[in-house]
Amino acid sequence: MPFDNVIVIDHPVVQTKLSELRETSADHRTFRSLLNQIASLMIYEVSRDWPTEERMVQTPLEKMSGRVLCKKVTLVPILRAGLGMSDGVLAILPEARLGHLGVYRDEKTLEPVSYYQKLPPDIADTEVLLIDPMLATGGSGSAAIAYLKKAGVRTMRFICLVAAPEGIKALHAQHPEVPIYCAAVDRQLNDKGYILPGLGDAGDRIFGT
Ligand code: URA
Repeated sequence: MPFDNVIVIDHPVVQTKLSELRETSADHRTFRSLLNQIASLMIYEVSRDWPTEERMVQTPLEKMSGRVLCKKVTLVPILRAGLGMSDGVLAILPEARLGHLGVYRDEKTLEPVSYYQKLPPDIADTEVLLIDPMLATGGSGSAAIAYLKKAGVRTMRFICLVAAPEGIKALHAQHPEVPIYCAAVDRQLNDKGYILPGLGDAGDRIFGT
């Protein structure tokens, strides 16, 4: 089922790596590596329409007019699983700054609880990429977006690996203007808030916990 303002990156290389990463047999080293590789590949699509400006370049043969990104970039991984995609993004955008938002899901209520925030002071003037591999209930993502809006951020993109339809609907019910980039929209959530078929607990699989 297609959703408005959701971009599924169904590139064959991304899909191959996603299938490998979902396998129970992928250990944390393999999982981490594949997740970062996918994050690097996704950035091509996510940044496709970012503005550029002219810069004169002196090649060994002559001067030419080149183009470069004209806005700074801030990544905001939602702790802790968001960290699992940060290195992959930074491999492509090494000059980006990192903010951090700590949000965990209360296991009983499944509601987000915010416990840490640290953002660059000029974040509102930058391209903001909010990162969390799993968009499940949408609670943490929505809470993180609300926090970024309070910090003055007007536009941002939400990047995840796997999204549940329930999470997309919940996040877009509160923040319909925020584009969601993902590699897959899975079938549904189970009664514990896990995505089916999903890949299990992304944080545990990244960190080997
Ligand atoms: N968070 C995860 O890590 N996995 C899920 O399936 C849902 C939320």
